[in-house]
Amino acid sequence: MARTPEKPSIWTDGKRPWDVENSQESLSQNQGAMLEKPISFYRFTQDQLAQYLQGLGKEKFRAQQLYRWVYDQGITDFEQMSNLSKDFRAGLKDQFNFELPEVVTHLKSEDKTEKILFKLYDGNTVEAVIIPSKERLTLCISSEVGCNMACTFCYTGKQKLKRRLFTDEIVGQFVKTEQLIAPQKITNIVFMGMGEPLDNPEAVFKTVEILHNPFGRNFSRKKVTISTSGLVPEMWRIMASHTLLAVSLNGYNDQSRSEIMPINKKYPLATLLHECQKYIQWSKEKVTFEYVLLKGVTDQVEHARQLYHLTKTISCKINIIPFNEHPGSDYQRPSLEQIERFQNELIKLGAHVLLRKTMGRDIYAACGQLTSAAALNKNL
Ligand code: SAH
Ligand code: SF4
Repeated sequence: MARTPEKPSIWTDGKRPWDVENSQESLSQNQGAMLEKPISFYRFTQDQLAQYLQGLGKEKFRAQQLYRWVYDQGITDFEQMSNLSKDFRAGLKDQFNFELPEVVTHLKSEDKTEKILFKLYDGNTVEAVIIPSKERLTLCISSEVGCNMACTFCYTGKQKLKRRLFTDEIVGQFVKTEQLIAPQKITNIVFMGMGEPLDNPEAVFKTVEILHNPFGRNFSRKKVTISTSGLVPEMWRIMASHTLLAVSLNGYNDQSRSEIMPINKKYPLATLLHECQKYIQWSKEKVTFEYVLLKGVTDQVEHARQLYHLTKTISCKINIIPFNEHPGSDYQRPSLEQIERFQNELIKLGAHVLLRKTMGRDIYAACGQLTSAAALNKNL
């Protein structure tokens, strides 16, 4: 008899992936009334918008109409929303704004990767990277300014968390980027920019919901990958949101992982990999394990063997990322030969392994090279 998979708690407590206690973004009718107006439209899921409009005495279905105009048609001027009455249109102006993060720099790499530096309302900056490939146009977005996870090899981790982004600031990275690259469209989103997405679940999963809305941008949730350093208690949200899971493994056993990723001391490999198995059982998708190759630290053939044994019973892809150097880093990138030796060992053992092509190194857009320009005091 088939074994019944263990049910993640989401199916028992009915929480939605973006329901977070001590929410930083209360938008219900009552609380909304206390917020400074106008509020960013990009902060509302359709349900929240409907509820908010009801509070203003409007019909629920108006939320769907607004979603169509804004996310499907790209129209943010209420005057052009011809199926809304004149009075209603006039009233909306006081309620909502459509401000987007400001583009400070937009750099293009020789390999066609593009990096956009965004300035937020309070002067903080975050980065997004556009990565073109044969059939895809992937947008790598940020979820936080800085990061508290303190992984020793990561540039973003060098800055402590300054603050979590609001939903409109994450949705805004996407909307603004599509405006810049029009008529091209983003086909995939990866939460692999600055910050730990599961440390900011409300804004991250509301963003997924907003962009997925079929009346709006209708972006497939299966084209969204959430990369986490392993915040195990929050991983159920990835299952509940029907997105894809990537885990930054980076170590071949507990000791090696704990040395470079402090979070491993709190949620060691057994716990993390168990949660990955739950994800696989429920989603029927593979997990992507990211593995950064640090010269002399994680790049030995023996490490490849241990990595294989660690992951061999898990339905996964292993994504090898050669270390990208950054100012002040204590690590080095392995030689090409060593990278190949590592990769070949995994292939020989039968792992599904991909070597991530390093993109955008010349403009500091590669994995782990992102940081707030303000912190660096230069506009890279
Ligand atoms: N916080 C999330 C997502 C952002 S980091 C996470 O850790 O998964 C995205 C990826 O970049 C992670 O897999 C991380 O291991 C990798 N990375 C960080 N610094 C790097 C560097 N200097 N060189 C190569 N990859 C790096
Ligand atoms: Fe944070 Fe990810 Fe960098 Fe670790 S690798 S410090 S979790 S952004």
